[in-house]
Amino acid sequence: MSAVIDVTRLTGAVLQPGTPEYERARLPAMANFHHIRPLAVVRCSGVDDVVNALAYARESGMHVVPRSGGHCFAGRSSTDGIVLDLTPMNDVSMHDGLVTVGGGARLAEVYTGLDRHGLTLPAGCGATVGIAGLTLGGGLGLLGRRYGLTADRLRAAEVVLPDGEVVECSAGREPDLFWALRGAGGGQFGVVTRLVFEPVPAELTTRFALTWPLGRAGDVLRAWQEIAPDAPDELSANLKIGASGVVLFGAGQPDAFLDLAPRTGDISSMPYYELKQSFDDLGDLGAGPVLSRSEFFGRPLPDAVLPALLSDLGPGRELNFTPMGGAYARTPVPATAFAHRGERFMIEHVGTDTAWVHASWERAHDHASGRVYPNFPDPHLTDPLTAYHGENLARLRSVKQRYDPGGLLRFPQSL
Ligand SMILES: Cc1cc2nc3c(=O)[nH]c(=O)nc-3n(C[C@H](O)[C@H](O)[C@H](O)COP(=O)(O)OP(=O)(O)OC[C@H]3O[C@@H](n4cnc5c(N)ncnc54)[C@H](O)[C@@H]3O)c2cc1C
Repeated sequence: MSAVIDVTRLTGAVLQPGTPEYERARLPAMANFHHIRPLAVVRCSGVDDVVNALAYARESGMHVVPRSGGHCFAGRSSTDGIVLDLTPMNDVSMHDGLVTVGGGARLAEVYTGLDRHGLTLPAGCGATVGIAGLTLGGGLGLLGRRYGLTADRLRAAEVVLPDGEVVECSAGREPDLFWALRGAGGGQFGVVTRLVFEPVPAELTTRFALTWPLGRAGDVLRAWQEIAPDAPDELSANLKIGASGVVLFGAGQPDAFLDLAPRTGDISSMPYYELKQSFDDLGDLGAGPVLSRSEFFGRPLPDAVLPALLSDLGPGRELNFTPMGGAYARTPVPATAFAHRGERFMIEHVGTDTAWVHASWERAHDHASGRVYPNFPDPHLTDPLTAYHGENLARLRSVKQRYDPGGLLRFPQSL
């Protein structure tokens, strides 16, 4: 592989070391990967820029990765080769009840574009997360128990394949590719340049944030594990336990949790758009490097595990609990690449204290299902492909073989 880029082969804005634009553009959102210096960042304004960059990568042998929001926990949108920065491709437009979104749009751009029409998508809270990265790995969010994954609302996508062909895929065209794009995780089959979704109404919604002191964490967690995964679809109750205490937050009526006598309770009705914004950046971990490890659980943790799990929380240590069930579970596993439909909840151990993250993950691990959300990749897994893809793994391998037989799009845990 040559360490010099032939810029005459690339189109779009080609940023190379030595300019302030390059220094800004090379940085992903996750500080863990700020040390990685690509040979070039290609800011793509259109499909041709992507086609040309993939052709150059194929011929030169240079590693190439697409980047939308740059939020990958495993740094998969960073490389010392070529980063395809898709963020200039961020159009959001409505036609015939469907929203078409550029492959580099961020969630805030999508929500803002849809809110004008009284619509939204079931998707995540982080404003700068890329809609492409989120959707390709599934997409969990506050409306998910009601409407399913972000990927469940995907109706079509435009993809530049590793061989340079540009294809439209949907349930009727390139169905295997369309299946694989809904939940296997980004950067594996092609570069997605456009996504078409069927949005949902953005209704007036109840927002809640209830808090308890850390000493009540065991009671609240015990109740949460029973209530949250089986709650009515309209209720999405996420639990965060950290040094500053216990916070239960989300959308819907949290009546079932009021019996637990929260220390504070903030419950109000507001437009869904505002509710989303109010939960952007909830957390105490700051902007520096963090380690995140997570797993799905198909049954509640035994009582005996809770004291150890909750005993050594402190600064730089946080547990996040996300409920599954509801509409997530109503799509059969083989229908999309997302293999985690039957899980009850996910636990994320996240912190600046990496030794604690590993120890905390180990404490819960024996009781987990062994499955891991592809959008929360974990470089420390012993059998990552089974953990991410479960019973969908064999079909995903064959889709990978068909669309990227030469492995142009690759990272340490890719198919
Ligand atoms: C602050 C924060 C909040 C989050 N909130 C949520 C949440 O509420 N719900 C949830 O489900 N997840 C959430 N996540 C996880 C998030 O879904 C993943 O990190 C996701 O992969 C981010 O996508 P991205 O486009 O921002 O990242 P990137 O790093 O740009 O991309 C992630 C992966 O997808 C590939 N990729 C990116 N764009 C494309 C494209 N156009 N075509 C093909 N491949 C592409 C990349 O190469 C990489 O492998 C959050 C993460 C963070 C850091």
